[in-house]
Amino acid sequence: MENLYNEEGAKGFIAKYSDYPMELALLIYTSRLIGSNSNLVLHGGGNTSVKLKSKNILGEEQEILYVKGSGEDLAMIEPEGFVGLDLASLRKLRNLENLSDEEMENQLKIHKVAALSPDPSVEALLHAFLPHKYIDHTHADSILILTNQRHGKNLVREALGSSVAVLPYIMSGLSLAKGVVAQYEKNVDIEAIVILNHGIFTFGDDAKAPYEKMTDYVNRAESFVQKRIRGKALTTPRGDIAPCKDTELSAARLAQTVRGVCAHQGSDGSLRRFYVELRSAPDLVDVSLSKEARNICYSGVLTPDHVIRTKNRMVYIESIPENDDDLKELVNKEVSAFTDDYHRYFQYQVKSKGVDRKELDLYPRVFLVAGVGLVCLGFSRKEARVAADIAEHTIRSELQANAVGEYVPISDSHIFDIEYWSLQQKKLDRRSPLLLEGQVAVITGGGGAIGFGIADRLLAAGSAVVLSDIDEPRLEKVRSILVERYGKSQVEIIVFDVTDYASVEKAFDEISSRLGGIDILVPNAGIAHVAKIEDLDPNKLDQVIAVNLKGTFNTIKASIPVFKRQGTGGNIVVISSKNVFDPGAAFGAYSASKAGAHQISKIAALELAELGVRVNMINPDAVFGDEKISSKLWDLVGPDRMKSRGLDYEGLKEYYRNRNLLKASVLAEHVGNAVVFFASNQTPTTGAALPVDGGIPAAFPR
Ligand SMILES: [Zn+2]
Repeated sequence: MENLYNEEGAKGFIAKYSDYPMELALLIYTSRLIGSNSNLVLHGGGNTSVKLKSKNILGEEQEILYVKGSGEDLAMIEPEGFVGLDLASLRKLRNLENLSDEEMENQLKIHKVAALSPDPSVEALLHAFLPHKYIDHTHADSILILTNQRHGKNLVREALGSSVAVLPYIMSGLSLAKGVVAQYEKNVDIEAIVILNHGIFTFGDDAKAPYEKMTDYVNRAESFVQKRIRGKALTTPRGDIAPCKDTELSAARLAQTVRGVCAHQGSDGSLRRFYVELRSAPDLVDVSLSKEARNICYSGVLTPDHVIRTKNRMVYIESIPENDDDLKELVNKEVSAFTDDYHRYFQYQVKSKGVDRKELDLYPRVFLVAGVGLVCLGFSRKEARVAADIAEHTIRSELQANAVGEYVPISDSHIFDIEYWSLQQKKLDRRSPLLLEGQVAVITGGGGAIGFGIADRLLAAGSAVVLSDIDEPRLEKVRSILVERYGKSQVEIIVFDVTDYASVEKAFDEISSRLGGIDILVPNAGIAHVAKIEDLDPNKLDQVIAVNLKGTFNTIKASIPVFKRQGTGGNIVVISSKNVFDPGAAFGAYSASKAGAHQISKIAALELAELGVRVNMINPDAVFGDEKISSKLWDLVGPDRMKSRGLDYEGLKEYYRNRNLLKASVLAEHVGNAVVFFASNQTPTTGAALPVDGGIPAAFPR
């Protein structure tokens, strides 16, 4: 690893955070340097601190420990990510024999200098007890490769030299903090402390020192490992299994099946679905096809901090059968073995420790799949990504560890203590899920006003959304607005042509590889053409039918295998039109094709009910866009209508508003609300049409 510290960078942070103490600004600088290196820490792992003096409200001088807030990500930490604690009070805790979890939490809370700051890292006491001004702590891969070994202590000594103290694994908290400071006091010349199966602490009197020591020791460990594994093959190909024929399709089928099998009832009674994150780097695919694959899956986490993100074991899927039923049977079998095993582990640990804990969900987060690589799960897309990042590092490190010596994971008993530690579980997102959280919605015609309005409402209800269109610039524009509102991780775009079945199928595979599958399909792509039958060019009619009717048919048809493999039901909400019930002259191509789509949707409702898939239609009228996203339909028909009625754009909107019973302006978000209503299964309804038109008597469904 490269030492990235430089005076210019340090000065930049001092200038940027000039409202804060300089010592804290420098800590932010080195914390970010550490956080940006995924070989050191991953997603909220590791922690850093600084001790400084400042005046309290009474003008008295007080020593304050600024330590990273629990679960904060070092890579992008801000001053608010650190918590200031009264150092003198924390140090007195060293005199205690024991400290319960509840009391440690309480002590850490009552000694904050700002009540609203985050809860401090679970390693805060260790930072408090050591005398050094700056302390850095990481779970560096190369250090863990050395510690997670039958002879870990010796290997660390050999690789890092005599200025490093090595302690056996002790769970974070008072005992670890006391153990570390006692070790330091025995030999105040040590430069770092390594905790077996956990990580490394470095310290010093300025911000640079612990960072440079971290770099130095991690580099020593890396070169030691590299020397030991040079010329050794990390994996042995199995030979009896071949790489997949069609990797994209296999990955999609597998993702859909895994997602379906792992969906389960949450504590609130709703179905909890996972998002999927796929990783197919060539070395991961090699591992998946190797003799070591199964063993790697049982090798446990690198450091206990990871267990709440990945669970302690992975599932190995050694083939992807061509037949969907066989695939589901295989995944079911492997997942059941995992959940049984997890339940046994929980029961055993609870009983043998004599403690009372609430069991977490039993489901795996990481699958190693032959020929595909890693398939990782999370209740949010971020969680899935975190699990995947950790799993990648775990697999690579464990393979190296096995080549260095004999990899030995930490015991289940230690894992349980961390996994079920209240302070660790707090890092997980515990709010009750939003209405459509965990679901994936696909909206065609995503570049237009209605597509945008639907996406907006589905995102607000917690769904991830994939917008599709053939018009990429419009799609990009819609995405950028939605990303600003809802963040990057929930919004995806994909360009495909609904009129081409093969292109739809391929797009649905791609969506499944990116997110895991599809739960809500909204066929919304449509085009209009204005001409009386007498003037209607038959080729134009074909074009309109191809998008409005055949496009709806294509997307519904291509979604069926996805719904089947998932086996968790789903919703198709077709954006129909007021014109289906109440057509207008010169609108034959549009109305007839929309009527066809409406009819095919009713047939789909009949045929897909047995899969638990509901198919409903929404019949909007006169949905104008706004200044951000215009309506493609009104861009086309608006000018003519304005001319024939002698109105401007606003006048035309007014005209349509006055035409309906409620005198309502129909907005894209109203259509979006209707989609959310159907997609959230609030009534047992399928095959229904819901007008969103302000009330047009001639268009009442009948
Ligand atoms: Zn740690």
